[in-house]
Amino acid sequence: MARNTREVLKAKTNGVIDKIKTAVSTAETKVAKKTAAATTRKRKIKDEDADEEAHSCDSCGSEDEKKPEIKKPTPKKRKTKGDADDTMPLAPRTAVPSLKRAMYIGAHISGAGGVHNAIPNAAHIGANAFALFLKSQRKWTSPPLAPEVPSQFRDLLKQHAYDAAKHILPHGSYLVNLAQSDAAKAKQAYDNFVDDLKRCEALGIKLYNFHPGSTGGAPMADACARIAAQLNRAHGETSSVVTVLENMCGSGNVVGGRFEDLRDIIALVADKSRVGVCIDTCHAFAAGYDLRTPEAFAATMAEFDDVVGLKYLKALHLNDSKAPFASHRDLHANIGTGFLGLRAFHNIMNCESMQNLPMVLETPIDVKGPDGKNVEDKRIWADEIKLLESLIDMDVESKAFAEKEVELQDKGADERKKIQEQVDKKAVKDAKKGTKGAKRGRKKKEETDDESD
Ligand SMILES: [Zn+2]
Ligand SMILES: [Zn+2]
Repeated sequence: MARNTREVLKAKTNGVIDKIKTAVSTAETKVAKKTAAATTRKRKIKDEDADEEAHSCDSCGSEDEKKPEIKKPTPKKRKTKGDADDTMPLAPRTAVPSLKRAMYIGAHISGAGGVHNAIPNAAHIGANAFALFLKSQRKWTSPPLAPEVPSQFRDLLKQHAYDAAKHILPHGSYLVNLAQSDAAKAKQAYDNFVDDLKRCEALGIKLYNFHPGSTGGAPMADACARIAAQLNRAHGETSSVVTVLENMCGSGNVVGGRFEDLRDIIALVADKSRVGVCIDTCHAFAAGYDLRTPEAFAATMAEFDDVVGLKYLKALHLNDSKAPFASHRDLHANIGTGFLGLRAFHNIMNCESMQNLPMVLETPIDVKGPDGKNVEDKRIWADEIKLLESLIDMDVESKAFAEKEVELQDKGADERKKIQEQVDKKAVKDAKKGTKGAKRGRKKKEETDDESD
């Protein structure tokens, strides 16, 4: 009996002990799970904060190697469709020394989520040069660059073999008008402008492209003088960045439609080493500078050299034009599909003076997605870069050139016809109304539908 009682007691005790053990084990598991979840949450928040300004390349996970038990959560994606991700680039970058002429071709790519993102985005499309906005181009104020961004930017440049001083051409804000005569508005424009220049210097960028501005109805000479005065002041507040004036299509009160506007601004800039020009091919053509035949191209470049000086040419924006010659309409078309055509770009790609300059595509890449909505297709830029590179030393009499020329012109035929009809209609209307009406019409058009890159 006594033995039996002992055995029963022992069995009961063991049962209780087992229960206690199970309970403790369950509790421990729960605590462990909670701790792990809390850690993961904390890390997730940290990563998402950092993602705003820090890059997320695969080679930078050294901190995680020490803590293999916690899986790093996937950083929140802020990329647009087609941006650089972990997949293969859309096109490999061409080694510039392998080209017969040193042409650095790229596009105006996105720096959404932080300027450093522009670097892998440029590499993704096979760009050897690129443009970007340094902050929101449609807001007056933006938060300053985070202190760690310049070194991250430099690391990524090194990793992708870009030279910030040669291959990057940021684009200024569309809001800024350095010709502004109103004191308060002029200050607002200046502050935004000089802030961008300081960002360039913090990132090691040497060239900064911007639209000269608008006269606001004042005489062109006054506007040019105001722009030059603002540039002189900005050069005094910074040390090295070159302010690059973009030529415009010459509509309404816009400054920079004539090479003479650019000359007059440069003439009043005290430090000539701090000022340059970017020729936008679409703007030049729409303003009445022909680039289509080798003779017309040579004449336009000779005029530029005469009026402004080739030494001031620092960059190019490569865009075809949906609008006809001298129409003063700023409508960018894909290379070869517009009124400029493939021959104009053949002229550029084989021009000695264009070598070693950043060349930036600002061509449309919106296409209809399967759901009918517009999506960006960055393959268009990747293909246009390769197309432009293929024009170097290409025989324009060859079958390959002729076929490509026809193919691209066919692609843009409907769009060219549409804009040509608009331009013709307006010309008839203007002829009826007289010059005064023409000016109003131009201004209205400029405010409504024209692109402005
Ligand atoms: Zn522009
Ligand atoms: Zn442009």
